[in-house]
Amino acid sequence: MTRNPRHITRLAPSPTGALHLGNARTFLINWALARAGGWRVLLRIEDLDSPRVKPGAADRIADTLTWLGLDWDHGPTCQSHDLDPYRDAMRVLAHRAMVYPCSLTRTEVERAASAPHADQHETRFPEHLRPPIQPGTFADERTNWRFVVREGDVGFADTFLGPQTHSPAQTVGDFVVWTRRGQPSYQLAVVVDDHRQGVTQVVRGADLLDSTARQLLLQRALGLTPEPTYTHLPLVVGPDGRRLAKRHGDTRIETYRDRGVPAGRIIAMLARWSGIEPDETMTAHDFVQALDLSTMSHDAVVFGSEDDRWLRARPG
Ligand code: GLU
Repeated sequence: MTRNPRHITRLAPSPTGALHLGNARTFLINWALARAGGWRVLLRIEDLDSPRVKPGAADRIADTLTWLGLDWDHGPTCQSHDLDPYRDAMRVLAHRAMVYPCSLTRTEVERAASAPHADQHETRFPEHLRPPIQPGTFADERTNWRFVVREGDVGFADTFLGPQTHSPAQTVGDFVVWTRRGQPSYQLAVVVDDHRQGVTQVVRGADLLDSTARQLLLQRALGLTPEPTYTHLPLVVGPDGRRLAKRHGDTRIETYRDRGVPAGRIIAMLARWSGIEPDETMTAHDFVQALDLSTMSHDAVVFGSEDDRWLRARPG
């Protein structure tokens, strides 16, 4: 891999719970790509989803990442510590008539929308609910604000998945960029931070693939260039095909750690899930040397009880 010291990436955990095998794999691959490529690594705590943020979770995640052998060159920074950069972005968007306040509740939007597909967890905001918009000011922080999504495809090249085309007008419509809690939404916060922190490489789970089109629309509306390079990694799922979560049992890294499973055993497991020849135990440094995205499967990784047994078994 060619080294590029001007590249910057971020590890961006949400402190809404502990690190589990699924998100640990994404962070490990992100970090390994950075270390192999000579990129700088930022640790950014995405703590704006305040109802779901758990006290102490950010410190525990950082501690777990360190225990696994990961490190970073800058941070941790916390998004909640300074909301001014997000307010500034909202002012620009309001001035450009790209956002508008919207006090409709989710139920009201759902009622107005046509029947959502069973596999959609987001309701598309129907265009007829959008009011006429004039250039204005970002005055009321205690209401939801939506971003105007015009018809059209958004394309980008994913370094792992290849060319992507998404149509946010068809899937989500005008999405929320500022919430009535007085905080930016995830979409706006990520765009503002990736730009101001100079992030050039975004590496994350494929569950965020459809957010990328929204983030590109926001970047373009704000005139933020250059656009980062995106790499979306397949998710780890349970035997039911759903994203690894509590319902699949306790896959928290700290639980394995408390039970005496060494970090090297966990890295070896994550390596097996990343197309690397199986080893009984492996350091994070060895993982950097061994990782080759070009041989990694595009399919989701299925976590099963045999994986859990393998982790707990004492090597040799
Ligand atoms: N904080 C997000 C998460 O934990 C990741 C956001 C991103 O990488 O853009 O799912």
